[in-house]
Amino acid sequence: MFICNCNLIKLKIKSMSIQTVNPSTNNLVKSFQEMSIREVDAAISKSTSAFQNWRKTTYKERADLLHKVASLMREQKKSLAKLITLEMGKIISQAEGEIDLSADIFDYYAKNGAEFLADKTFSPEFGEAFVRYTPMGVLLGVEPWNFPFYQVARFVAPNIMVGNTILLKHASIVPQCAIAIEDLFKKANAPAGLYTNLLLSGKRTSSIVSDERIKGVSLTGSEVAGASVASEAGKYLKKSVLELGGSDAFIILEDADIDKTVEWAVVGRMNNNGQCCVASKRFIAVEAIADEFLTKFRDKLSRLKVGDPMDPTTELGPLSSEEAILHLLDQIRRSVDAGAKVLLGGKRVNRPGAFMEPTILTGITRKIPAYYEELFGPVASFYRVKDEQAAIDLANDSPYGLGGSVFTQDIERGKRVANQIDTGMVYINHPTWTQADLPFGGSKGSGYGQELSELGIDEFAIKKLIRVSGLSDPF
Ligand code: NAP
Repeated sequence: MFICNCNLIKLKIKSMSIQTVNPSTNNLVKSFQEMSIREVDAAISKSTSAFQNWRKTTYKERADLLHKVASLMREQKKSLAKLITLEMGKIISQAEGEIDLSADIFDYYAKNGAEFLADKTFSPEFGEAFVRYTPMGVLLGVEPWNFPFYQVARFVAPNIMVGNTILLKHASIVPQCAIAIEDLFKKANAPAGLYTNLLLSGKRTSSIVSDERIKGVSLTGSEVAGASVASEAGKYLKKSVLELGGSDAFIILEDADIDKTVEWAVVGRMNNNGQCCVASKRFIAVEAIADEFLTKFRDKLSRLKVGDPMDPTTELGPLSSEEAILHLLDQIRRSVDAGAKVLLGGKRVNRPGAFMEPTILTGITRKIPAYYEELFGPVASFYRVKDEQAAIDLANDSPYGLGGSVFTQDIERGKRVANQIDTGMVYINHPTWTQADLPFGGSKGSGYGQELSELGIDEFAIKKLIRVSGLSDPF
């Protein structure tokens, strides 16, 4: 196994501060000073003042700002994408795709927000009643590094439309992306305090949830971080949304078109260098087609071009950090020690940086860590099952409930299977994915609440009932 001598030293430095470390080389690029308690306090005050004005703006004013941010993003697509690739190693074409998707989300809420937030009328027996959407106030967003712009967009765009103001604590390994997003708001002439980047470490974040000026918190990330933030929110009776990890099943039924299914399996597992919450992580094939699927899947994975993520011909880049690859290697080692087999890969690539071989694990039973842990990297877990029912049972035997997919040529069958899978999203003939106008959210250990679509704008809006009665109407 190749380990650059300086990796562990760098890891230690990284865990202590907010830094850009290029995962393709593991070289430190830039360090940032974490905000002091006083600076965080000032940021919360500024956001609170900004809210008093922002809540009075019209939907048109809010939409104009969101459109402006979207167009700036598109204008700066190349440079923003390069920042993503530099800081967390996403291959450059996907980084550009992420900027497009993020801009789409801003435009989507600018275009549709007013309609989603229009009064909802009710028809009581007498008088008048309607629900008016009103903003909550200052919100804290805690976001992960794996989609540095998209994760922020899907929390921020709907909430700015609602009239809330935002404090954004981004992952410590993507500080330049975090600063770039704040700059987009400045360039779009957003009022001071509307969107504030908090350069803050994860371990200090939960403590600010208790601040009475913060009215709600949304976290996308691991269960540990989610539980920490949500327990603080619960203690202080604040609304929270959690978008956590996943271990999506990718079910292949005997009537699936195998060649096309294999192509989607590669995309589903390897997109974002294997680091999507909704990546296809558990491949569950029914006996009749298991061998054919596995042979073709293995063949395609073994031929992926691993390399520099800035090179447009690269198909698989590094993991986001040295810490991430060490964690993944440890999960593989513990799984193999417990009896799993490595059918492909299983090691880091013999070059500097956090590069992991495309990997397939087989022989996974309930006693093996890979059965229930999320493998956040280019590692596919393969399972062979007797039939459709066994595939559903295995898919559901997971602490997670994020997404999942079913491959079959019989769409009605696919819908029947989807109906029996205990997750927040199931895609038929496609890996779980995302777009501005479709809801996104999980169940079980994958969190609660929704983002995107009309549902995503609801979470941090107060639905205030306004009821009109005649003075002589009954009690
Ligand atoms: P993470 O370690 O939980 O970090 C996510 C964010 O939480 C970062 O900003 C981090 O700050 C912060 N954080 C860490 N510990 C915290 C704590 N104790 N209290 C408050 N905040 C804390 O997760 P990650 O490793 O970056 O992201 C990968 C995970 O996110 C995977 O499990 C993935 O599946 C999940 N994810 C879920 C979704 C979804 O929509 N369901 C989407 C993307 C990713 P620091 O960086 O400073 O530690």
